[in-house]
Amino acid sequence: MYYNENTIVYYNNEFVKATEMKGNMFSQSLHYGYAAFEGIRAYNTAKGTRIFKAAEHFERMKYSCGAVGIPYPFNNEELIHITYDVLAKNSLTDAYIRPLVTCGPNMALTKGNEAHLLIAAWEWHAYLGDNLLRVMTSSIRRPNAAAFKLDAKISGHYVNSIMACQEAKDNGYDEALLLDTKGYVAEGPGANFFFEKDGVLYTPQKGNILPGITRATVIELCHEAGIEVIEKQITIEEAHEADSAFYCGTAAEVIGFKSLDDVVFKLEWKDSLGAILQKAYKNRVLEIESIPTLLTA
Ligand code: PMP
Repeated sequence: MYYNENTIVYYNNEFVKATEMKGNMFSQSLHYGYAAFEGIRAYNTAKGTRIFKAAEHFERMKYSCGAVGIPYPFNNEELIHITYDVLAKNSLTDAYIRPLVTCGPNMALTKGNEAHLLIAAWEWHAYLGDNLLRVMTSSIRRPNAAAFKLDAKISGHYVNSIMACQEAKDNGYDEALLLDTKGYVAEGPGANFFFEKDGVLYTPQKGNILPGITRATVIELCHEAGIEVIEKQITIEEAHEADSAFYCGTAAEVIGFKSLDDVVFKLEWKDSLGAILQKAYKNRVLEIESIPTLLTA
């Protein structure tokens, strides 16, 4: 699914076949989850293949590495060119792109001494599917923000995401919603959370979340459309009483909730602000000029 015998990736300064790439089993990244990565999408727009917010994603990867001491001897402008080459070499237009920075052999708990960069790409349908989600509040909390750099996209953090997502699936739900250590709503395992109440959108404030690039895009679209959006601490009771809710992220794009902990949202998805933003987001990534408008106007 992610690669076959023809797939070309960029690894350690060259384009190589994915099947011939050699990693190191003594890598500090493998043993300790000490690596940084990105999730980016390219779209087949009327103007050709476009990587959405490429600069923002590579800037975040640089930030993530810096946050935990992983060296970053890369030039992001070059990386964007290289990423377009990876897409072209694999004849990909609509694609998910996965850059990953790993470290060399080091079993000590000291910062990374060398950086290896992989850029891979594959076709990936909307990560959470196209159907409204049945979500459960996870018993697994997001990590303590004083213990991890939660605004960095570090591989090891995703053990937490895997546990929460699997718990939801084991209980018959589509996805999990995680609370922070104080019990406020934080985010999904791989997406940011928004809900609508009385015509206003709410989303958890920064601090205990990965502040997503899609979240920022949704907020931009709200400002353009005149939709009020408030970033604040959110209780699970407020989320249960919402009119509608959605997740957003690069892989998931914008996807609505059907229910949270079996409480079905009052508004039909098609009548929600989320549905307007879902369409507006699609237009934005496809570079179709349109100002989202409140359908009630
Ligand atoms: N939160 C988490 C934990 C994530 O893994 C992601 C996906 N990167 C997001 C939020 C959404 O971030 P973005 O919109 O930048 O993809």
